[in-house]
Amino acid sequence: MKTLSDNLHAVQARIAAACAASGRTTDSVQLLAVSKTFSADDVRQVAACGQRDFGENYIQEGVDKIIALQGGAQVLVWHCIGPIQSNKTKLVAEHFDWAHTVDRLKIAQRLNDQRPAHLAPLNVCLQVNIDGGETKSGIAPANVLVLAAEVAKLPRLVLRGLMTIPDPVAGFERQVAVHAKARALFDEVKAALNQPQFDTLSMGMTGDLEAAVHAGSTMVRVGTAIFGGRTYA
Ligand SMILES: *Cc1c(COP(=O)(O)O)cnc(C)c1O
Repeated sequence: MKTLSDNLHAVQARIAAACAASGRTTDSVQLLAVSKTFSADDVRQVAACGQRDFGENYIQEGVDKIIALQGGAQVLVWHCIGPIQSNKTKLVAEHFDWAHTVDRLKIAQRLNDQRPAHLAPLNVCLQVNIDGGETKSGIAPANVLVLAAEVAKLPRLVLRGLMTIPDPVAGFERQVAVHAKARALFDEVKAALNQPQFDTLSMGMTGDLEAAVHAGSTMVRVGTAIFGGRTYA
């Protein structure tokens, strides 16, 4: 049976191969291990292999794990990658290091106001609905520049980049085509903002990380290939 360590190393090898195939250096892509539905003990095992960044979708579940793992041997970096409603901004601001799913100014303002003074500013990405899926969260690409300019002004946030969750499509070329749109938008916003901290394009998951790396992702969010299939309660 494969261990979590085997799985992590296999994902690292996939990222390295994808970088090599695109003429990128391996350290230009960060791995975010998506631990939603898995236990604090599973996270501890993966962290013991050197993995530092973990992503959670469900805020209370994430906070429970963050608290359970505080003061451990490794300092972990926690990313909120699930939808953030107004009544959950305080938990995110108080416990997470990153929020990838900001898609409106009201949520950004609440995160800014609720970020405790003793913590570093919260890193945020704007979630973009890059393929126009009707049921999906995320801001429309045409509105990203305006929101980015507003969020960049908030002193307790650091605008780090963009995040996308395109609907699954089959085939490398089609996956690259969607991710390339996100990359082009990222470059456009980066040029307009002119802020060096705007350095993160969060895209690519278990099924499409090679295409995402090819298109210019700087952070892939991988759950299944590390932790296994999920069962929801
Ligand atoms: C669950 C999830 C992932 C990981 O997906 P896998 O296909 O299991 O790798 C990545 N990003 C988000 C936003 C998710 O909700």
